Amino acid sequence: MAELNQANQENEQGTSEAISRRDFVKKTAMLGAAAIAAPSILGASLANAQQGATVLDQYPYKLPPLNYAKNALMPYIDEETMTIHHDKHHQGYVNGLNKALEGHKELQSMTPIELVKNLDQVPAEIKTSVRNMCGGHVNHTLFWNCMAPKGGGDPRGSLGDQIRSDWGDFKSFKDEFAAAAGSVFGSGWAWLVIENGKLKITKTSNQDSPWSAGQVPVVGIDVWEHAYYLKYQNRRSDYINAWLSVVDWGYADGQYVRGMKM
Ligand code: MN
Repeated sequence: MAELNQANQENEQGTSEAISRRDFVKKTAMLGAAAIAAPSILGASLANAQQGATVLDQYPYKLPPLNYAKNALMPYIDEETMTIHHDKHHQGYVNGLNKALEGHKELQSMTPIELVKNLDQVPAEIKTSVRNMCGGHVNHTLFWNCMAPKGGGDPRGSLGDQIRSDWGDFKSFKDEFAAAAGSVFGSGWAWLVIENGKLKITKTSNQDSPWSAGQVPVVGIDVWEHAYYLKYQNRRSDYINAWLSVVDWGYADGQYVRGMKM
């Protein structure tokens, strides 16, 4: 987090060029490692896709495969919704992002997370496309990762401890999270994020990413109607409760631990 905060402060002071150089050095090193380790990284694609650079993060970006079968989250999330949501909607964001970056070589060397973290470096004529398409890609990658068959239950590890410490108990957290997700007006997301080293429940509109606000997303629920309408129609609260039954708190704990080191 310290580094993120520092990056934000630097951005505000208008020294984004320095960040760009530093990120370039870091990402070049990571891409080198990714190229050498490509076969095994492909196998663990989704787990890695949210953090650091992998072969999936090299332009043209690719849709990360799911770590589980499309029917594995039933009865909470149905197979048809998973199929359309992943194969059509998420693929659409990846395609849109790749198209937006055509001819922008300087941006093609960035990972999707780096792009949404540094929208101020994106030229005005493609900024809206990158914000929407790259946000959609990054948001959905975390969304698939933070669900699992046999998910749900209570959060574990240091994340679980921190949630219980901050909210008093897990039920209070769940109530606030469900209320946030239920109150997103129109299309958007509700998130558990790290901001300045502390956990916080937030919302974003459309495909805006917490990364763009200097936050690290830990888990996020997609409340666009495409995420639930086939099974739940207008009953968004039923979908939110169902989603809480498939949250992979083990993954979330890993994301929290990694995020706290940023
Ligand atoms: Mn979606």
